[in-house]
Amino acid sequence: MATFDLENIPGIGLNTKNKLLKLGISNSRDLCFHLPVSYQDKTKLQNISQLNHDDFGYIECEILNKKILYKPRKIMIINAISNGEKVSIKFFYFNPGMIKIFKEKNFVRLYGQIKNGLYGKEMIHPECEVVNKDTKISNTLTSIYRTVKGVSQNKLRSFIKFSVQNIGDEDNDINLKKYGFDEINLLESLKQIHFPDKSIKKEDILPGGNHPARRRLIKEELLAFQLGMLSLKERRKKSKARSYKSIGEWTKNIETNMPFNLTVSQLKVINEIKKDLTETSPMMRLVQGDVGSGKTAVALMAASLVADKSDQVALMAPTTILAEQHYLSTLNFFKGKESQIALLTSSTPSKERDKILNKLFLNEIKIIIGTHALFQKDVEYADLGLIIIDEQHRFGVNQRLALKSQNSNKKYIPHHLTLTATPIPRTLSMSIYANMSISIIDELPPGRKEITTTSMGMNKKNELIKRLNEACAQGSQAYWVCALVEESDVINANPIEETFNEIKKNYPNLACEYIHGSMKAEQKNKIINNFKNGITKLLIATTVIEVGVDVPNADIIVIENCERFGLAQLHQLRGRVGRGDKQSNCVLLHNENIGENAAKRIEVLKGTNDGFEIAEQDLEIRGPGEIMGQEQTGVVPFKYVDLVRDSKFIEESTDLAKQIISDDKKLTDKLIQRWLSGSIDYADA
Ligand code: ADP
Ligand code: MG
Repeated sequence: MATFDLENIPGIGLNTKNKLLKLGISNSRDLCFHLPVSYQDKTKLQNISQLNHDDFGYIECEILNKKILYKPRKIMIINAISNGEKVSIKFFYFNPGMIKIFKEKNFVRLYGQIKNGLYGKEMIHPECEVVNKDTKISNTLTSIYRTVKGVSQNKLRSFIKFSVQNIGDEDNDINLKKYGFDEINLLESLKQIHFPDKSIKKEDILPGGNHPARRRLIKEELLAFQLGMLSLKERRKKSKARSYKSIGEWTKNIETNMPFNLTVSQLKVINEIKKDLTETSPMMRLVQGDVGSGKTAVALMAASLVADKSDQVALMAPTTILAEQHYLSTLNFFKGKESQIALLTSSTPSKERDKILNKLFLNEIKIIIGTHALFQKDVEYADLGLIIIDEQHRFGVNQRLALKSQNSNKKYIPHHLTLTATPIPRTLSMSIYANMSISIIDELPPGRKEITTTSMGMNKKNELIKRLNEACAQGSQAYWVCALVEESDVINANPIEETFNEIKKNYPNLACEYIHGSMKAEQKNKIINNFKNGITKLLIATTVIEVGVDVPNADIIVIENCERFGLAQLHQLRGRVGRGDKQSNCVLLHNENIGENAAKRIEVLKGTNDGFEIAEQDLEIRGPGEIMGQEQTGVVPFKYVDLVRDSKFIEESTDLAKQIISDDKKLTDKLIQRWLSGSIDYADA
């Protein structure tokens, strides 16, 4: 697609350019791909008598008179006549230009919502345009775009129009007819979506609609994505990794120190990983396993093989707390190896960090655990053999793909192992992770009891606290999770401290602490460890404890304002309990008035503990358009595809991608270039 700079588009100067950047638009191609979010139908004038209260309508009228009042508030009221019926038009905000439009005897076209006022029909703040006998009616639906302050719909429309008109026809290069794309090409699709002919029904051409133009975009984007994934896979195959087979001290060490027998499922997955590690092409494996299924032990078994060959392993966790926890369990698994295991996070003091970096470079550290800090530019590994990424759904695809080898020994690429607790159903993950092999841990360690889940309204909060206090006196440990919209909320409204104070006031003897994301790492650690060691009985927390915190003795979790969380997140939170052999309880505390979907989520959680099933139900409840919500943003870099809504195309595109990548390298590259340039980084291949 011929792409040109924004400056070449009439009407765009530096100022507008910067504003468009905020919309993620940096060239003409981005403008072409900036699709309308809705449409106005201004293709025919309507008769006002047929418009009812709240209808949107497009009418023409003649101005009779206007008056501008300043009290009780500023208002411009215009009386007009349309198809013989009186209509009054009201503006609470207006400028001199608008006053001129509504000159007596002018003919004006208005688009807006009709209201039945006290004295007849009204339109408040309609869009308006002065017309004469010759003014034509548009033949196309009028697109409405997402925009920013300072770039009006009209301006944005004209920029997009210019870009689409000057796009060039290089696109005809990408001809997919042979592959069953019988319909219209991309350029034609974009034209139809930006400027739909008046014969097209709005709902067909809107996102999710069934119009061939929409289908074309979706199918092509899916195909390009799959091709991107497959070509990543191919490139990896061609690159070299070290092969790890022989067992040494590290493996013996972990086998001796493992406090339990691995489950059949864990063993199966370990074997799959081991097999990959013996190969000389880099492993790219995803381990899916429900919360508490024991992914850490599996990952560390893999790590031991690499350390046994005196190579290095980097284990990356999404939060500092989780990194700390992994560090502690790693030390436990490899007793006697403490000096060769390190922790590196953004809160590691700089002196300490320098020391660690130096040791990494000298290969004196074999297993390093941390957060993103592990992959900053100046972190250089002597012989990095394996990268483990825990709870992958917390990282974006881009990051995942861009993780470079960072080996000073450039001849080899590290193996990749990714762990995730099934945020998405199997069918979808096959597509999203087409570049990976997938292993599934489908059983929990023995002796685990089903977590009992109940729900209650906020009015029972006091009673619940009373019962918690009693349970803690009997040896229970409990989490109390509060919903914050964002961690930064801690500063203003503070449900955490509020709940804490309430509990402290009524039960001063209950050992209770609270934790949230904006605390210093050191402090967080201390609090978590107090809880781990049983010093604290009740821990009030934000979702910072969502992943990874592992306190097997904890047997109660209360989730306050559970209606604010998504299913996947609730399940993940609930997974903080039921990690030992105690019978655990989860209490979902909700507001009195909750929506239908929130109520359904509660029912799903009460009904099952199975993460896979929850993921499936999640799809059903959320329905099209919502699956990749807040929790999962960044996972899938699609422009238009909605994996749930468009799941019917997935299988077909997977097959097609396999065919095209082996048949037509040029086409593959062109499609990847068109859809994924910038979002997939091949640096690691
Ligand atoms: P997740 O898959 O959620 O990351 P973890 O690796 O944190 O799970 O393991 C959850 C808990 O189960 C930990 O306390 C861990 O020590 C324990 N565990 C793991 N595997 C087994 C097993 N085979 N038998 C008993 N307990 C196990
Ligand atoms: Mg884990």
